[in-house]
Amino acid sequence: MPEVSNDKPERKPKRPKLPRTAIPEQPAKVRATNFEEVSLGYDEQMALTEASRCLQCKRPKCVLGCPVGIDIPAFIKLIEEGDPAAAIAKLKETTSFPAVCGRVCPQEEQCEKLCILGRKQEPVAIGRLERYAADWEAANGPSGKPEIAASKGKHVGVVGSGPAGVTCAGELAKMGYDVTIYEALHKPGGVLVYGIPEFRLPKDIVQRECDYVESLGVEIKLDHVIGRTMTVDQMAENGHDAIFLANGAGLPAFMNIPGENLNGVYSANEFLTRSNLMKAYRFPEYDTPIKVGKKVAVIGGGNVAMDAARTALRLGAEVHLIYRRSREEMPARNEEIHHAEEEGIIFDLLTNPTQILGDQEGWVEEIEVVDMELGEPDASGRRRPVPREGSERRIPVDVVIVSVGTKANPLLTKSTSGLELTGRGNIVADEHTLLTSKEGVFAGGDIVTGAATVILAMGAGKLAARSIDRYLQGQPLLTPEEEEAIQAASDKAAETAAAK
Ligand code: FAD
Ligand code: SF4
Repeated sequence: MPEVSNDKPERKPKRPKLPRTAIPEQPAKVRATNFEEVSLGYDEQMALTEASRCLQCKRPKCVLGCPVGIDIPAFIKLIEEGDPAAAIAKLKETTSFPAVCGRVCPQEEQCEKLCILGRKQEPVAIGRLERYAADWEAANGPSGKPEIAASKGKHVGVVGSGPAGVTCAGELAKMGYDVTIYEALHKPGGVLVYGIPEFRLPKDIVQRECDYVESLGVEIKLDHVIGRTMTVDQMAENGHDAIFLANGAGLPAFMNIPGENLNGVYSANEFLTRSNLMKAYRFPEYDTPIKVGKKVAVIGGGNVAMDAARTALRLGAEVHLIYRRSREEMPARNEEIHHAEEEGIIFDLLTNPTQILGDQEGWVEEIEVVDMELGEPDASGRRRPVPREGSERRIPVDVVIVSVGTKANPLLTKSTSGLELTGRGNIVADEHTLLTSKEGVFAGGDIVTGAATVILAMGAGKLAARSIDRYLQGQPLLTPEEEEAIQAASDKAAETAAAK
């Protein structure tokens, strides 16, 4: 007979309840006058303390919230054990840009939103820990180079060097493919380099990630505009066995109100590109002019509007952010809104521009706005803003920056035969394989989804690499198991819809 023990089963020791570890930041007044990074990152002790808050859940919900499924408890455990090299290696199994994602991913809407600790107290600061591991690697040297498979003798062309293109190229290079990225601009990185400002994402970090992909054997050809320098069809004729289109959605939208063609009206994209990519904020060291004047109006309430407003502030202007709904409906990350408020951006909420007025030389002088109130919810689920009659007023401004969204640039798509597009001009691609209507051509990232997030673009890059590999090896793009799982998920969704 086995010996019966009266001992109670051993329980995991309870973790002390610690508050979320604050991240050091430059004081608001200081940072409002410079372009240095706002958040300074955890030191070792802070990272160890924060990592110790993780419950190491058996069924970790955080992983379900991560669009690329990072093994979050595993990398946090390695940090807690004092092994950041192993933590970064674990992260890199799933994400190509941990230093970028740790800084700009909307974790509060993803992994941290589902963190089980968050039900009773503040969630584990997963993004900050990801950043810590990535910064540790940057300071201490790479924790090893991945294995690169023997050459498969096939060539893949990638259009665009944003997170989707660079991720796809890196994955394919590791599988043994020759990969060339064609980038329209003179620097690689996409929005990470031309859109997101230095004070949120230092550009040497983006360059490091691009250098890493080049070190895997990927060639990046800059100043190559596909659709002008060469068409997609010519890429195929020139020996690319498969093509991935990851050209983003960088064409700015405007409001179509009178005065938008005046001098001193920028799209947020142009304003940010001048400052970030062309380094206008370091004028005259860099010879790029940028007009900000004394008073700037930024129109919009998303991350891009926050970036434009905070950039204009740092260039010395008083900045009014004009948004037609209330603070609650703002699509920007909470952290960005909070930082903008702290730095002194003036929020004109429930306010909508009706026209921009100029002086005799055609330069912006005033912006006319109207007060709004919130009515019934619209198709987006948010309450519809309705103008309050007779509330028009004018604000004197020197510059207006329009940040009301972006769409697909038709330059590439118009010059490509046989490519199916949506009504908004985005490329149609199968959601499970990213294959387009054109043989051997795949597409992903913002050009398919419309403006989205870095992590989703990276996820698309990974998926495209998997599909391209299968395509080039003559295999079906989906395995029978994957087909079955997709069918089961779609049956379940149909059942749920019917039950409703
Ligand atoms: P992009 O990053 O747009 O890259 C596309 C690349 O293709 C560009 O380099 C472009 O020059 C190139 N290209 C275009 N046309 C051609 C052509 N014809 N030939 C050759 N090359 C071409 N997301 C977050 O997750 N967090 C944030 O905080 C955040 N902040 C943002 C702030 C700003 C100002 C902006 C604009 C976006 C922000 N986003 C943020 C969104 C995120 O950056 C994008 O969703 C993501 O970069 C999309 O990646 P992509 O690879 O699809 O395209
Ligand atoms: Fe840790 Fe939160 Fe993930 Fe649980 S859900 S493993 S507490 S990060």
